[in-house]
Amino acid sequence: MRELIGFACDQCKRKNYTTTKNRKKTTEKLSLKKFCSSCRTHTLHREVKV
Ligand SMILES: [Zn+2]
Repeated sequence: MRELIGFACDQCKRKNYTTTKNRKKTTEKLSLKKFCSSCRTHTLHREVKV
């Protein structure tokens, strides 16, 4: 039971990445430093619903 989630840039709110996670194992909200093509730099990306 893996759930599809997206990662949106914290600066411009653009959805740049999608991944899956196991809701039973990973209950906390994920946030990652990833490259945003819109901001043209690495920004914090927060978990969002797809
Ligand atoms: Zn951005």
